[in-house]
Amino acid sequence: MSKKRIAILGSTGTIGINTLKVCQHLANDLEVVGLAVHGNIDLLLDQIKQFHPKIVSVMREDRKQELTHKLQESKLNIMGIYSGIEGLVKVATHPEIDTVVVATVGAIGLLPTLEAIRAGKQIALANKEVLVMAGELVMKQAKEKKVPILPIDSEHNAIFQCLMSGTPKEVKKLLLTGSGGPFRNHKDSFESITPDQALKHPTWNMGKKITIDSATLMNKGLEVIECTHLFDVSPEHIEVVIHPQSIIHSMVEFIDGSIIAQLGVTDMYLPIQFALTYPDRKPTPLPRLNLHNIPQLTFEHPDHKRFPCLGFGYKAIRIGGTLPTVLNASNEIAVQAFLDETISFSCLPKIIEKTMQCHQTIFHPTLNEILQADQWARDTAKVIIADES
Ligand code: MG
Repeated sequence: MSKKRIAILGSTGTIGINTLKVCQHLANDLEVVGLAVHGNIDLLLDQIKQFHPKIVSVMREDRKQELTHKLQESKLNIMGIYSGIEGLVKVATHPEIDTVVVATVGAIGLLPTLEAIRAGKQIALANKEVLVMAGELVMKQAKEKKVPILPIDSEHNAIFQCLMSGTPKEVKKLLLTGSGGPFRNHKDSFESITPDQALKHPTWNMGKKITIDSATLMNKGLEVIECTHLFDVSPEHIEVVIHPQSIIHSMVEFIDGSIIAQLGVTDMYLPIQFALTYPDRKPTPLPRLNLHNIPQLTFEHPDHKRFPCLGFGYKAIRIGGTLPTVLNASNEIAVQAFLDETISFSCLPKIIEKTMQCHQTIFHPTLNEILQADQWARDTAKVIIADES
């Protein structure tokens, strides 16, 4: 059988690095053809030496020049080196690629994903903001092009696996699990929480943006929205369950009362590999989950009062239109402001809520209207932050 040819958008981030580990492990099944990064060209250079892609892209033009120079020095030959958003699209639509792993962070992944779908590529999606921003548009285009969107997000990958046990008609609800983040039991005020504290996730090792999102539970709010699009279910049929051990990665309840769960070690390697080998399963080099080492699995309701961002996610998708785009964009700005220590941890949800309140929702938006709403929300959130600080 011929190899599946892969492009990775965001190959130097945590998902990208793990995807390359999968490609290395399954070298007989997977071939790396394209890599795109933001600006970490030193790591990209190592990846080029190891995987010999045909095409690469560096978001930052200055870094692309540096890379070109370094490649010449190392006498390495690459067919195409690109930059900017056009570069991402070039990699995502390259004719010799079958599957595009979208592992970028934030809104940047939207255009290349849409272009990859248009070019008929299979999508393995880790960049949940793509669906939060423009789920309706992305799923519609994927349906038209008969392109599968395979989720890499661990919960959605788990639900995807659980759904293989029944037909859509037999599904009662999706049970989306979350660890509850580092402040689940934080008794004091959230006011004094520092970025360092928020960046310490109890069970998963991830990039900065998603780790802060996990601490505010915005990540779960975004995941509820992601679920509605991926699995075509309404938000009323998605229940968030706090499960601090992160052993169960999510569950599906069927109409007969059966609940099917997917369990595994907390390592993104597993959902990435399943997305790339689907519908087959292959061995992994991961340590096995030893149930005898797990004294208990516990479940709690989320605390909507202390973590209002989860409710914002539900609200945004219930109303729909451009409101989820606005939620996502204002969150990106607020997270960055918190990381820059411009706003406090407890101020973060307020920025998002105020931005959402100011927005005039457009229903069934076009791509242009989505991009405009995204920009509007970024500008508005910045003004609100300036007023608050
Ligand atoms: Mg997740």
